[in-house]
Amino acid sequence: MTPFSLSEDHVAIRDMARAFAAEKLAPDAVRWDEEKHFPVDVMREAAELGMGGVYIAEDVGGSGLGRLEAALIFEALATGCPTVSAYVSIHNMAAWMIDRYGSDAQRRRWLPGLVMMESLASYCLTEPGAGSDAAALKTRARREGDHYVVDGVKQFISGAGVSDLYVTMVRTGDEGAGGISTLVIEKDTPGLSFGANERKMGWNAQPTRQVILEGARVPVENRLSEEGMGFKIAMAGLDGGRLNIGACSLGGADAALEKSLAYARERRAFGRSLAEFQALQFKLADMATELEASRSFLWRAAAALDAGAPDATKLCAMAKRIATDRGFDIANEALQIHGGYGYLADYGIEKIVRDLRVHQILEGTNEIMRVIVARALIGR
Ligand SMILES: Cc1cc2nc3c(=O)[nH]c(=O)nc-3n(C[C@H](O)[C@H](O)[C@H](O)COP(=O)(O)OP(=O)(O)OC[C@H]3O[C@@H](n4cnc5c(N)ncnc54)[C@H](O)[C@@H]3O)c2cc1C
Repeated sequence: MTPFSLSEDHVAIRDMARAFAAEKLAPDAVRWDEEKHFPVDVMREAAELGMGGVYIAEDVGGSGLGRLEAALIFEALATGCPTVSAYVSIHNMAAWMIDRYGSDAQRRRWLPGLVMMESLASYCLTEPGAGSDAAALKTRARREGDHYVVDGVKQFISGAGVSDLYVTMVRTGDEGAGGISTLVIEKDTPGLSFGANERKMGWNAQPTRQVILEGARVPVENRLSEEGMGFKIAMAGLDGGRLNIGACSLGGADAALEKSLAYARERRAFGRSLAEFQALQFKLADMATELEASRSFLWRAAAALDAGAPDATKLCAMAKRIATDRGFDIANEALQIHGGYGYLADYGIEKIVRDLRVHQILEGTNEIMRVIVARALIGR
């Protein structure tokens, strides 16, 4: 591939995911939002097409693809439902952490089920007292023989209560990033429980709960890599996770733009179609331009991450901020173009706006993306 065009394989992957989104996600997305339904069965169908382990190695059943392909897939799925696409992306991120940092025995134990989404994974970093400052996390894992005894609360965990595996950052050592380790905690672990499903502005087609650990006994063999590696593992997962979330914003924005184009052609005011007003034409042109610019940059960051480029973390942070900020703005403009109808649930636009809003907050807020970029530019 040249940086500026997709190969035939890329186009085929994107079209496959787009067709799935149009057939299996879009028709039910508004209802799932209203009913707070988490469509696990539909996600398993996506997994049958290889989307449960996009960048997981093939020896454990993964698709063995790269970050650009992942960006294409999550953007395409998000044209049908940003919330479902975002959960599938988090699942992929957590599975990748096991693939990349797990032992061969751990990979063979967990990944075949994860790639098929027979088992689901959540990523547990945030705590009530540690969000942006994640290295301040307090969940304590105390070693007792061949187990850790874990106490603490993880906040805002996507998929919690339904997921089978919780890839959890815990403190095994001193204060700071170097005292953190990663444990894979299984759902049936005694001492693990969940808070109530949070009532949210958007992302209603997936649950968000606290993960509560009270004397939870987790086998030492469930630790990924060495003690003290947890913060590095968590941040490595997020580089790709940020691309994925950015891609979900692009997909939501793309769907909102398509709806706006159709609406502007058909809706009439002052004796002509909305599409004939130059002010709206310019608005649509700007939306399409900003979408394309964000997409091109996200692909550049994805290529850098795949290549292991030294500036990949900075580029992923830049891409996440641009794609999620511009994606939200485009969806919000689309709502405006729909007038009062954009505010009604039936048109599916207000749901996209609500869903995309949180992408500016999670997987590192967009302020934290600026912190990462500034550190790369001027040092700590
Ligand atoms: C729906 C939803 C799902 C989520 N899913 C998950 C999940 O699955 N797993 C998980 O681990 N977490 C998850 N999160 C948590 C999310 O990542 C955090 O909310 C986010 O990192 C921000 O942390 P906080 O909410 O504690 O805000 P805070 O860290 O308290 O930040 C508050 C404000 O201060 C700003 N701020 C903080 N520090 C700085 C700074 N140094 N410079 C400038 N501004 C700063 C922030 O940008 C923000 O605007 C989810 C959150 C939501 C809402």
